[in-house]
Amino acid sequence: MTTQEQTAAPDHSRAASSAKLPSGRLLIDGKLVEPSGSTKTIDAIDPATGKSIMAFPACNAADVDRAVKAAHACFESREWRRMRPLDRGRLLENLALLVEKHRDELAALEALDSGKLLAVTQAIDLQFTIDGLRYFAGWASKINGEYVTHNPLVPEDALYRAYTERRPVGVIGGITPWNFPIGQAIQKLAPAIAFGCTVVLKPSEESSLTTLRLGELIAEAGFPAGAVNIVTGLGTDAGAALVDHPLVRKIAFTGSTATGQRILEASARTMKRVTLELGGKSPTIILADADLERAIPGAAAAIFSNSGQICTAGSRLLVEAPIYDKVMEGVSRIADEMQMGSPFDPSTQIGPLISARQQDRVRSLVDAGVAEGATAMAGGQSGSGDGWYYRPTVLADVTSDMTVMREEIFGPVVCAMRVEDPADFVSLANQSEYGLAASIWTNNLDRAHILAERIDAGTVWLNTHNILDLSMPFGGNKMSGLGREFGTEAINAFTEPKAVCMRLESADAFG
Ligand code: NAD
Repeated sequence: MTTQEQTAAPDHSRAASSAKLPSGRLLIDGKLVEPSGSTKTIDAIDPATGKSIMAFPACNAADVDRAVKAAHACFESREWRRMRPLDRGRLLENLALLVEKHRDELAALEALDSGKLLAVTQAIDLQFTIDGLRYFAGWASKINGEYVTHNPLVPEDALYRAYTERRPVGVIGGITPWNFPIGQAIQKLAPAIAFGCTVVLKPSEESSLTTLRLGELIAEAGFPAGAVNIVTGLGTDAGAALVDHPLVRKIAFTGSTATGQRILEASARTMKRVTLELGGKSPTIILADADLERAIPGAAAAIFSNSGQICTAGSRLLVEAPIYDKVMEGVSRIADEMQMGSPFDPSTQIGPLISARQQDRVRSLVDAGVAEGATAMAGGQSGSGDGWYYRPTVLADVTSDMTVMREEIFGPVVCAMRVEDPADFVSLANQSEYGLAASIWTNNLDRAHILAERIDAGTVWLNTHNILDLSMPFGGNKMSGLGREFGTEAINAFTEPKAVCMRLESADAFG
């Protein structure tokens, strides 16, 4: 096993200085303000070094109340109600232009605050942010209701006409996780604004800086005061206050299943609408006829990208017996050779985990897996030096009942299983409480489509993994969530149908 041990590069601090830090002020009612409720702060920590970057506000319920009231006042205002959909789209377009202008600086800030590789924040996170704004800007002017052909109970009722409208839900509370910070902020903000809602965003306390910086750009982009508000803080304080607030009509949440369950329960009290994008334990399925030149690096990328901190990570590797050894050898070799280091070093392939807590969690789950009988073919240990690094890890001989095979690890750890009988693939793939995504690697079209149909997941990829597309519905089955975002499904997520029925008083006059 060749183990590359390299953590934060000596020039990490110099490279990180290309990130422009936000002022740390909140966006409320169109202004950048200090919190008025809480004086507490949270330290933003650089995961590559464990050092503090800056402090930002830990808002309480009073700060959240101020933001929600601003969002509500905007939603009820004549200006917002009368704004043409095209003009709401233009607001998103203005913001896209500003994000584009500040792209490099935002990509660097995201890398510094979340430990994601700079190359990835540039190519993926910022591109998704800009694309997301433009994609939903286009939707704003394309939301239509329907003319309803109604079926009267008695002939006289034929003098009615009926149609439907799609009305914005109201104030949206957008609560986001730490693994895709600025992209997730846009995933909530852009459809909310496009479909006529107003929004209060609460980013993860682990990575709030790009959302705060986004707030500064939103303040420049010409949004009416209160259309978008940003508060920071702990989930149990600011997040819970947003969920409990009676003027918030819907929570659009992305995060862990445990928090999603808490939000669903709390939302029942005010009958809030919710969409929940939660955790996963997605299978990567490699059939014996697959093209291994593509499948082996594909399986490695499915789990090791973003150090495994992707909800759809291919964390269970199910391989047909004849090719199992070859696949395990290939994936383990890639894991061993991955260059670990500073997110700002272009040669780095794997960066740090988000926090010491996450590093501990990954370490203890892997240790438990090995204690239960799994074999670490690669990795199985933390990176050396500063920062919260964990080596890409391949666990072989894993069985369905082991904790590592059941729980979402959210780290660079793949659990592999040899599948003797292909008839078992469906039940093994579905033997999880999650149902977010899966990938199937095969050259046999029949097997690909039949497996795709039978796997219980929100997304199935064929001969690829982790392709995110704004025009495809995204979300999970079972414990992976409720509802879908993106594509046409976003219309249902951010609007409510309204039926309007009108009696035509003078219709009889024409016979
Ligand atoms: P988390 O659930 O700990 O936190 C997510 C957000 O919820 C944070 O902003 C947090 O402050 C807030 N929060 C925490 N407790 C709260 C409460 N009681 N009330 C209201 N808000 C509260 O999740 P995380 O650790 O930040 O993110 C990792 C998880 O997110 C993983 O499980 C991952 O699979 C999931 N995720 C899912 C998707 C998806 O689209 N399905 C995408 C990315 C991440």
